Amino acid sequence: MSRILIVEDEADIASVLQDYLRHAGHETEHVADGHSALARMLEAPPDLSLLDIMLPGLDGLSVLRQARVHTRHPIIMLTARIEEVDRLLGLELGADDYVCKPFSPREVVARVKAVLRRVQTEEAADKATASLQLDDVHWRASLNGTALNLTRREFRLLQAMSRHPGRIFSRARLLELAYEDDADVSERAVDSHVKNLRRKLSSAAPSHDWIRSVYGVGFAFEAPLE
Ligand code: CA
Repeated sequence: MSRILIVEDEADIASVLQDYLRHAGHETEHVADGHSALARMLEAPPDLSLLDIMLPGLDGLSVLRQARVHTRHPIIMLTARIEEVDRLLGLELGADDYVCKPFSPREVVARVKAVLRRVQTEEAADKATASLQLDDVHWRASLNGTALNLTRREFRLLQAMSRHPGRIFSRARLLELAYEDDADVSERAVDSHVKNLRRKLSSAAPSHDWIRSVYGVGFAFEAPLE
């Protein structure tokens, strides 16, 4: 059982989410404005928060930004605007996942379950990524003792993604990471870097699929479970 904080000013939506999450075996708490949400997250961080963006008082993005200074607990954003997704998933804001409105409560419960599972296996993931060595000074990476011979762009991508196993990085964010200020590159370029990176990781440790594609959104580094 996990403790879920629901931050949603629309009473009907909040109530449906509460019902479904309780039915799935979670304990829930509901607040309807940004200031209360931030206060709760800082006083007693829940196991996971569902955070609406359009809120009275402090909006969801400000809550997320301020909460992230103090707490790493997983936060799933509820958004009515698909165009915000890139920013949400960016390292700057650090949401763990998002659900677009209108959503089915079942979908939200499934997302909650997936994110909680991800967090609960993070310890195991940390151990597994210990076999991945990144040398920031010389831009060298090795996996299980095998040198990966990465390009600098591949190195930057792997470095960012492996720091947050399971987190989805959008193509736009990966492009920023790989090219820094050189903006004149298509997001398609990211696909080919990821493809090469995936090939190099697999050749050093073939039994695991290291980089997961999230259709239409981007990629996530997946540490092996165990
Ligand atoms: Ca709202």
